[in-house]
Amino acid sequence: NGSRRIYRIYANPIRPRDSKESIGLLMVIEDITNVIRLENVRKDFVSNVTHELKTPLTSIRGFIDTLKQGAVEDRAVAYRFLDIIEMESDRLYRLIQDILYLSEIENRPGEEEALEEVSVEEIAAQVLEVLDSKISQKNLDIFWEVQQDVKVRCEPDKLKQLLMNLVDNAVKYTEEGSITIRAWKAQGNSMIQVQDTGIGIAKEHLERIFERFYRVDKGRSRKMGGTGLGLSIAKHVVERYGGELQVSSEVGKGSSFTARFPAPVDENKKPSDSK
Ligand code: ADP
Repeated sequence: NGSRRIYRIYANPIRPRDSKESIGLLMVIEDITNVIRLENVRKDFVSNVTHELKTPLTSIRGFIDTLKQGAVEDRAVAYRFLDIIEMESDRLYRLIQDILYLSEIENRPGEEEALEEVSVEEIAAQVLEVLDSKISQKNLDIFWEVQQDVKVRCEPDKLKQLLMNLVDNAVKYTEEGSITIRAWKAQGNSMIQVQDTGIGIAKEHLERIFERFYRVDKGRSRKMGGTGLGLSIAKHVVERYGGELQVSSEVGKGSSFTARFPAPVDENKKPSDSK
């Protein structure tokens, strides 16, 4: 249940060099709970990845088989199947990208990065541009409450990935209403928020949605092209820069994801100026 601890016990007789008799026993008790836990997390991840990669592949193979068995003769059917094959390959591609991204941010220590003071406004605008066609397929208003001088000290691509995942989710899980993007400064922090009026998330799922591959509704996420990794990547990025990602949500009303980052220290200010 998570509270039980696991120990490894070694026991060795202590024997003086010139004697056959042992004069005692050396016992070492090692707490290996965390080692085992990490190993299990890794095993789970590998088996999840395998499953996640197999699912689209199985579907692609199935449609190819059906096409070869004759469905290819009917043009309309054939095109429908090809669309599905295309969609599933795209999902496979995204999945591989997300897995690589996740393993990269886990394995590369932060010190190797070229950190910059990145403008949230600039990055958020780029994200909206990329998602523009997806947004306009739905009847969604975008509200923009982004203050100009909000900055985060980070690698620009990572902040972009974070915002991309949050806004993309907001679009995926909202049929109508609006998405509001906010950025503001608060007590030494840079705050970023993405709020939607979508389907919302039930309380029992809220604390699990940041886990890899966890989805509230597998079918729906798949239909939307989701990989189940977006939020774990988002959380990783925020924590990498010393921040925190929080969610509040109500089923049927909408969700709101808030990232808090420590604001970059203003180098023009003397230390005595800041509190
Ligand atoms: P996915 O690729 O499935 O969207 P994520 O890791 O991005 O994976 O999100 C995990 C799950 O959290 C989603 O499958 C969905 O059930 C839920 N979720 C994430 N964002 C939202 C949102 N804005 N509104 C409702 N549900 C959401």
